[in-house]
Amino acid sequence: MSTIREFLASPRQRLSSRREQFLEELGLTPLWRRRGAGTGDQGSTTSGRESEISDRAPRIADQESADTPVLTSPAGAPERAPRIARMNWIELGGAVKSCDACALAKTRKQSVFGVGDEMADWLFVGEAPGAEEDQKGEPFVGQGGKLLDNMLAAIGLKRGENVYIANVLKCRPPNNRNPEPFEVAQCSPHLARQVELIQPKLIVALGRFAAQALLETDATIASLRGRLHRYRGVPTIVTYHPAYLLRSMPDKAKAWADLCFARATMRDLPALVAETRRAP
Ligand code: URA
Repeated sequence: MSTIREFLASPRQRLSSRREQFLEELGLTPLWRRRGAGTGDQGSTTSGRESEISDRAPRIADQESADTPVLTSPAGAPERAPRIARMNWIELGGAVKSCDACALAKTRKQSVFGVGDEMADWLFVGEAPGAEEDQKGEPFVGQGGKLLDNMLAAIGLKRGENVYIANVLKCRPPNNRNPEPFEVAQCSPHLARQVELIQPKLIVALGRFAAQALLETDATIASLRGRLHRYRGVPTIVTYHPAYLLRSMPDKAKAWADLCFARATMRDLPALVAETRRAP
């Protein structure tokens, strides 16, 4: 069984072969493992390298003072966002399925709405569907999805159980190119409504694109990690995208720290809310 120390060890130390590494990425070895279950260990990181972000309650000072603004609709469709904002789950699902508000409708096989518990405390938000998601109609079903499932398991979560997974864009950009600002603006009312319907306690933005889109910022992922942000009032944490982590072993340690931070934040949310209410 691997421990977090082994998990954090350099690839050369830890992996005897590329095949082993590949199997790990697929979740076929115990790569992501919940630490200290039943030992009173709340998942705090112990080594110097691990402790970049500690498993601590975020302080009020960590929170941004004002809610981030709502992602806005592009000019020319002012009535669209309010209409979407009134939809129920069924209407929203139908709207996303038949959406032709941007050119991605012409190249997608199908839109990818999102998956999971509609009353989840946890909402994980990625960038946009890739080829496999476009084919299957579910977010994060490729190799990155397997790693995401392992990341969830590492903090005691499971896809579909108190967890919802969605993307900023509901349709695949051709050749997995970066989403265009117009596409983000057209699609953002869908995610905004999903958030309103789910009312998650915590959002985890997966990767630079999701973080920048949700928080409406150009800031780097390095500067956004380790702090508590808000998207439409919902506490939001930023970590690396699973697809990026598949390519960058060293940043897995940072992602682990982010997950510990997320778990600690969820655990301490009631105290945080009380503290916020007491603040002048
Ligand atoms: N990458 C994402 O950001 N989302 C997916 O659903 C798949 C890959």
